[in-house]
Amino acid sequence: MKIYGPVPSWRLGNSLGVDLVDAPSGYCKVCPYDCLYCHLGHKGRISVKPAAVDLSSNDFDVLKKKINDTEPDYVTFSGQGEPTLNLNLGQAVQRIKEMCDVPVAVLTNACFAGRKDVRDGLDKCDVVIAKIDAPTQDLFEKINRPANGVKLAEIVRGIKLIKSKVCIQTLFFSCGSVTNADDETVSGLVDVYRDINKSKPIEVLLGTVTRPSEGAGGLRAVDPHLLSEIAERITRECGIKVRYFREGHEIHKKVLRNIAHDELKVEICDLLMRRPCTRDEIVCRFDGSDAASVLDELVDKDVLDLRVLDKKEYYVMKCWA
Ligand code: SF4
Repeated sequence: MKIYGPVPSWRLGNSLGVDLVDAPSGYCKVCPYDCLYCHLGHKGRISVKPAAVDLSSNDFDVLKKKINDTEPDYVTFSGQGEPTLNLNLGQAVQRIKEMCDVPVAVLTNACFAGRKDVRDGLDKCDVVIAKIDAPTQDLFEKINRPANGVKLAEIVRGIKLIKSKVCIQTLFFSCGSVTNADDETVSGLVDVYRDINKSKPIEVLLGTVTRPSEGAGGLRAVDPHLLSEIAERITRECGIKVRYFREGHEIHKKVLRNIAHDELKVEICDLLMRRPCTRDEIVCRFDGSDAASVLDELVDKDVLDLRVLDKKEYYVMKCWA
């Protein structure tokens, strides 16, 4: 188990990350998908076998201290691995609930939501943010590139059975000839939201590509106006509450104070391994520590690299490239 951040999230505010599935050496992630836009990179280990991976008490002591030090809005399961690949997710949520009142969220692709043992873990979270980017199996396979045999219909069926609050998250983008932002696909997605909402009330979160992805030439964000139009349409046609990404929506707070140089390097690498960030995003997290010079040092030492998306420079781990 690895703890990182907090990171500023437009969906969750100041979000302290917990990674339950560490990627083995040489891999950038462990996931049943390899989404075209994945900002973790594409040298991942594809896994479709959730298993119970032991949690260490020491990790929970570290987590408790970090929660006390940073006062996050959410503790969020996410990171380099699809959180539901660890069947001890529910046990982890329970231990967090015993130590604090901070709500717990999970960012999941919902690939295993059809499994009762996986839903048992999801049902202990306050919020489940589940990914659906496509309305058809064909487009699902083009965008999310799941392992063989993963069926979108089965995922939708599983999501309907989750008891916790569910937010369906869709990331609109285009990449070469693949897009989910055309009219026909948006109509199909609206039908999917409506169908799930009939079984269990949901909220919908609409985003677009905001961080670079290795090897995905031609990856393009959609116009923010389109997100707002889609949001209005979903609410008008289905009566579902929708939130969508807007530039500057993320809350940036100085949350980590006076961290020693070596610890700062570890903090920054743990974060960038899971999420490319701009210089400002990193520097503004640390109060009384010289994060800017640590970034320069890590670039000089070839640990970090810079990538550009929409004219913004992002730091990424060099092993990602
Ligand atoms: S589900 Fe998430 S981690 Fe997995 S490939 Fe897609 S974006 Fe990356």
